[in-house]
Amino acid sequence: MSIPYGRQSISQEDIDAVVAVMKTDWLTMGPVVSEFEAAIADLAHTPDATVVSSGTSALHCAYAALGVKPGDEVITSPLTFVATASTAMAQGAKVLFADVAEDTGNIDPTSVESLITERTKVISGVDYAGHPVDADELSALAASAEAYFLEDAAHSIASLYKGKPVGSLADITAFSFFPTKNMTTAEGGAVVAKDAALVERARRFRSHGLVRNKDEQRYPDEGPWHQEVHEIGLNYRLPDVLSAIGLSQIKRIMEFKARRTAVFERYHAELADVQGLILPTKRDYVDPMWHLYPIRVQDGRRREVFEFMRDQGVLVQVNYIPAYWHPAFEDLGYKRGMCPVAEEYYSQEISLPMYADLSDDQQSVVIDVLRKALA
Ligand SMILES: *Cc1c(COP(=O)(O)O)cnc(C)c1O
Repeated sequence: MSIPYGRQSISQEDIDAVVAVMKTDWLTMGPVVSEFEAAIADLAHTPDATVVSSGTSALHCAYAALGVKPGDEVITSPLTFVATASTAMAQGAKVLFADVAEDTGNIDPTSVESLITERTKVISGVDYAGHPVDADELSALAASAEAYFLEDAAHSIASLYKGKPVGSLADITAFSFFPTKNMTTAEGGAVVAKDAALVERARRFRSHGLVRNKDEQRYPDEGPWHQEVHEIGLNYRLPDVLSAIGLSQIKRIMEFKARRTAVFERYHAELADVQGLILPTKRDYVDPMWHLYPIRVQDGRRREVFEFMRDQGVLVQVNYIPAYWHPAFEDLGYKRGMCPVAEEYYSQEISLPMYADLSDDQQSVVIDVLRKALA
């Protein structure tokens, strides 16, 4: 039996919640959506939340809510899934990549500062592996540039920074509920913000930009059926059927966090003496919900170790190829060598299996196979 790098944890309650919604009138656009949104806002300590169809659509709705448009610049990390950058480009922005800190792999505020221009609209940090970004520094940089600070928190729902939950740190924050993430709705995501008006803009974008409130309409006397579009949006809605999984999952999120913390600590303790490895760093003012356990393999042995572990049924992953190495970016003129710290991080990185349902026996296998790979 192989061991994946990430996996969902599904309970009988999750299944029952879906079945219950299937028997109601509302498969989508019904009451479970708002219930799930309230639970997310509660966890993130924000005035509101809107759920969407994926982490990618959450990022797109967030950039749209911030008014990102052609001519704007967005600064982000290359050590991320391509969606952090591609959704800003879908809004017409130019993306600039800042380098990362050597220890956490998170965007380096000093590198961000060097890229700020009068066109900077958004600074997008990514909480790599679940470890929150330097939120105070990035907030201050965004404020001084009259830009926004966006947090791609696809890895970090339920992480804390200086005691405050992710979601309450940035101007706007995007979550993902893909099965490998900290909690799931199969596909899904959410947007939260400190300012409820920004969440409302994201919510409108997720549903074609439709304005249903008569007080806000330009032609309210058109008829009782009337709804109108003021700014273009798309259909990025999360159905009630999937919101039901999320509402059930979020009740167990602290159990997920406790188990992920235990997995992290055991890797840390049992791999500390292995030569040729760099283990992930935790700054002392954060309390992460660990999404990944990223090790770095020294001496140019990453590929060999990766292939050995895969052959033994430990389905390790690499997170991530620097975003601008993708041919789509290369074709736009982005050059290798631009962010040397991120490139070196990538060249050594392997993500070990990390999820709430990973058993102690499975973790023993992972540790054993990794030791053999490096022996
Ligand atoms: C998973 C992920 C996304 C995209 O989320 P999806 O739900 O897969 O669309 C964006 N950014 C990061 C950092 C991710 O890990």
